[in-house]
Amino acid sequence: MAIASDPRRYQAPPDLLRDRVILVTGASAGIGRCAALAFARHGATLVLCGRSEARLAEVYDEIVACGTAEPVLAPLALEQATETEYRELAGQLQDEFGRLDGLLHNAGVLGQRTSIANYSATTWQQVMQINVTAQFLLTKALLPALREADSASVLFTSSGVGRRGRAFWGAYAVSKFAIEGLSQVLAAELEQTSRIRVNCINPGATRTAMRATAYPAEDPATLKTPEQIMPAYLYLMGDASQGVTGQSFDAQ
Ligand code: NDP
Repeated sequence: MAIASDPRRYQAPPDLLRDRVILVTGASAGIGRCAALAFARHGATLVLCGRSEARLAEVYDEIVACGTAEPVLAPLALEQATETEYRELAGQLQDEFGRLDGLLHNAGVLGQRTSIANYSATTWQQVMQINVTAQFLLTKALLPALREADSASVLFTSSGVGRRGRAFWGAYAVSKFAIEGLSQVLAAELEQTSRIRVNCINPGATRTAMRATAYPAEDPATLKTPEQIMPAYLYLMGDASQGVTGQSFDAQ
């Protein structure tokens, strides 16, 4: 299994993702929006998944304005989506492209910042549905398309609190532990039987709406921007990471 030298300092060639088809969840805002733009600028055709159609359309326009490949809009509310909807999306992608080269599971919600003793059972279920179960269902539906690619990359988004539990992070922390587990299980299952690699990335403290909600007193100017953490994302999506699987990386 190859080990990255330092993905955080990776310098991606401009055509790194030429002719690749990559689906990004949570492409409407924050890190996912930035990753979608970065992948498109490096040549990929994007499948933009997100909840807000209006915000997804803005990202679509931004990508088109760059003059890169026209993206596909795939609005999907991860809290409600059924297995049938995931299968329909997978079928549309198979029909249009015949394969999927990359899948970035980026969408996520924070839930409550409170103790387990006070945590709402309803919020717990919402967070686990969006942050874990939806990612399992989407991955399952897209596996046949990923198998058709010469070198596919599945990237899950973790967090520091998904590796070491911290007080008052509740379902969010537990969901990120689960994502690390899902990534490891899937990587082990696919390592000998496919050309699909599966890894996790922890963005680290990054200037987005979610971070501002979690740390309202923090000065956002002290944080890395999503643009600044893109080298590791490009490394893990492109061929430089071929053979790297079952690992968890820090983007900063
Ligand atoms: P944002 O809150 O800025 O963006 C979250 C994205 O997820 C949005 O595009 C949002 O879509 C989408 N989303 C949320 N709920 C749903 C849903 N029910 N269905 C479909 N899409 C949904 O978050 P960040 O960019 O900060 O976070 C991205 C990832 O990085 C998350 O997994 C987060 O846990 C992780 N992370 C972030 C860190 C940080 O410091 N920012 C640190 C560690 C991990 P919409 O715009 O339509 O609501």
